[in-house]
Amino acid sequence: MTSLGRHVRELIAIEGPITVERYMSLCLRHYYATRDPLGAGGDFTTAPEISQMFGELIGLWLLEVWSGMGRPNPVHLVELGPGRGTLMADLLRAARLVPDFLTAAQVHLVEVSPALRQRQQATLASSGLPVQWHERLEDVPDGPLLLVANEFFDALPVRQFIATERGWCERLVGLEGDRLIFGLRPEAEGPLGKPLRIGDVLEWPSLSIDIIQDLSRRLARDTGAALVIDYGYWGPAFGDTLQALKKHTPVDPLEEPGEADLTAHVDFHRLAQAASAQGLYAHGPASQRDFLLALGIEARATSLKMRATPAQAADIEAALARLTERGDKGMGDLFKVLAVTHKGLQAVPGLPPPSIAS
Ligand code: SAH
Repeated sequence: MTSLGRHVRELIAIEGPITVERYMSLCLRHYYATRDPLGAGGDFTTAPEISQMFGELIGLWLLEVWSGMGRPNPVHLVELGPGRGTLMADLLRAARLVPDFLTAAQVHLVEVSPALRQRQQATLASSGLPVQWHERLEDVPDGPLLLVANEFFDALPVRQFIATERGWCERLVGLEGDRLIFGLRPEAEGPLGKPLRIGDVLEWPSLSIDIIQDLSRRLARDTGAALVIDYGYWGPAFGDTLQALKKHTPVDPLEEPGEADLTAHVDFHRLAQAASAQGLYAHGPASQRDFLLALGIEARATSLKMRATPAQAADIEAALARLTERGDKGMGDLFKVLAVTHKGLQAVPGLPPPSIAS
């Protein structure tokens, strides 16, 4: 048994069952602090690790939005959960097209994992730009902001509630002998309303909402835009989306706490609503497929292939398919893209106009 596995069991033995949110939070902190989980040798692969085209197109997106903001200098260029730093490196390379942007941009990485911070430092060393690291978004200084978050919100803990005859009851993690098991808090929670169908699961991403609220207050006050890309859905919807992935294969989330990647799907509607409530525009969401096609990923692939060997050209083709294809094989429709901006930005590249009234 791992040390975290022992710790979680001791905690439950002393304090009683813990919420799914607390369980996820304990596991995720340990998981990200102790490894680089990305890539073929790790547990999962993300879009920037599949192809440089992804980050390059986001770089072009940022240049256009910065222009729309009136080219503020300085502008804070923030990434939440930058992984290996690949997305930031690729977008900064594309941004060289507009040297004034690179002069204005102050790079801030919000990252909790010491292991990944080291990795990001190595990846970004050649960018020539100073980089500041922060534990939380709150620590990033005030001022005009451009923020990106790819596969960040799915890595944050959620509370889960299950519809019972008594009303909504919070899902807990408890112990049966030495085995971790799911259970329910006996008493129902008041504020969630009366459930319609017994067995429905409602997920509540409290930390994601706190972060979007903080972000939105900044954008409303200081101007700017945030681009959120993740797998998820446009709620409200019911369902248990908690999943654990190890070596690219689903595993039981209660098996080996802290050793598998735990995620929950992102409810983009909830994020958009939280932003609208703070007086922002929410643009989209669009599917990742529509977003990347609108930004010109096919033309970018064609131009990369012209300078490529036949083997490299095949890789570029495969990456293009993986990023944009619909269904199980691709990330094209499971992944969604949402931008939130201050109200001075009526439109942003690649996304439908604001949909929710504030
Ligand atoms: N964006 C990257 C990595 C996604 S993995 C990519 O697309 O490849 C999730 C990232 O979020 C990791 O860098 C992880 O260490 C970081 N992370 C997870 N929880 C976090 C938190 N609460 N605060 C800041 N970073 C967090």
